[in-house]
Amino acid sequence: MKTIIEPFRIKSVEPIRMTSVEEREQCLKDAYYNLFTLHSDDVLIDLLTDSGTSSMSARQWGALMEGDESYAGSPSFYRFKKAVEHLMPFKYLIPTHQGRAAESILFTVVANASHAIPNNTHFDTTRANVESQGAAAVDLVIEEGRQPETEHPFKGNMDIAALDRFIRERGAETIPLCMLTVTNNSGGGQPVSMENIRQTREICDRYDIPLFIDACRFAENAWFIKLRERGYADKPVIDIVREMFSYADGCTMSAKKDGLSNIGGWLAMNNEDWAVECRNRLILTEGFSTYGGLSGRDLDAIAVGLEEVVQEDYLRYRIASTQYVARHISEAGVPIMKPAGGHAVYIDARRFLPHIPPLQYPGQSLAVELYRQGGIRGCEIGTAMFGLRPDGMEEPAHMDLVRLAIPRRMYTQAHMDYVVEVVTGVFESRESLRGMKFVRQPPALRHFTGRFDYV
Ligand SMILES: *Cc1c(COP(=O)(O)O)cnc(C)c1O
Repeated sequence: MKTIIEPFRIKSVEPIRMTSVEEREQCLKDAYYNLFTLHSDDVLIDLLTDSGTSSMSARQWGALMEGDESYAGSPSFYRFKKAVEHLMPFKYLIPTHQGRAAESILFTVVANASHAIPNNTHFDTTRANVESQGAAAVDLVIEEGRQPETEHPFKGNMDIAALDRFIRERGAETIPLCMLTVTNNSGGGQPVSMENIRQTREICDRYDIPLFIDACRFAENAWFIKLRERGYADKPVIDIVREMFSYADGCTMSAKKDGLSNIGGWLAMNNEDWAVECRNRLILTEGFSTYGGLSGRDLDAIAVGLEEVVQEDYLRYRIASTQYVARHISEAGVPIMKPAGGHAVYIDARRFLPHIPPLQYPGQSLAVELYRQGGIRGCEIGTAMFGLRPDGMEEPAHMDLVRLAIPRRMYTQAHMDYVVEVVTGVFESRESLRGMKFVRQPPALRHFTGRFDYV
């Protein structure tokens, strides 16, 4: 059959409150045109993030009831541990409440101000945790990964020659570990090939540097390897996942992504000395080492989520729905980042709205209009988010994008058809869109709480 169907049926539903354009215009005014300030029940289709927004399965809801809330040694922890180790066989496993807590603990233990941490592209919380130790967070993604229009099957790949050069010039002793983010979120959810993971490992071995994987979307990455890399078409996803992690010495993970859960994360590694220090740090900041800031039931939900996320019918549907939106809006002429990544479609707002200069935030204008016309909430990733320099001056960000992140298992194809219709409708009326300005902005992270208006 050609038609890819949602590999689930719906047992419990949550109504979407329908709103009119007039109501949404009022909501926008009340929110000062900042989509983070909207009440989410005023949103029809919420594509703000794929983080923590997954629908849980009936089995996961059942597992919640089995959750054991013992302070120490809960069976929930051992079910979680077994599920993680089935995919990622590292020696030491440290549960945390989110991915960033794992990052914070790891870098507090391994990094200091004389260090640098290379990565294909650091996710923003990863970068912030590296930099809060005074260390340098260095992005070394391949050139194609920085070009929105270039097609490449593995745009998340590490630039191997650049990594080698960087380590030689910086000195291996200043690099406590190297990271690889799969898929490369900040680069558009682009995958990393198995060959590239292997080559990164070889470079790390040459200089005796441990390799850690930022594993948030490991299953989506494995699916892309199966689809696109020679030699993997007939391999079970679970074997691809295991091979990916076999090249690493540890990982950080947010269970809010490919854990198919609403909260959770972990840190895993083979180095015993680091693990002992990380556990001590965990107990200080998160909780005891068998729950790490989570309740027992959360650990059970993650254990089941990890079984479900590597099922091939799920991954086929997951990636197909992202590609579906990308293909249809692209065919209507909407400029997008190509190829579409795993979890999101990125609209190139600068090319969508060439009449709006970057310092009038074309991405914000587009994101606001998608909400106004269709009740869709996306996220500006551009000059509003990144354009304010620490000295208070502004400059255009590298790109002005609107990210439409697709929550896992939440929306059906009809919802995606609606998204396509709204985006193409806004595209047809694009010349009527106006630029925006900040009327109030905090000195940092202004996109979260700043207030906008039209210029
Ligand atoms: C979400 C994310 C993180 C941080 O995880 P949280 O659970 O949000 O703290 C780290 N790295 C990547 C690539 C992510 O997508």
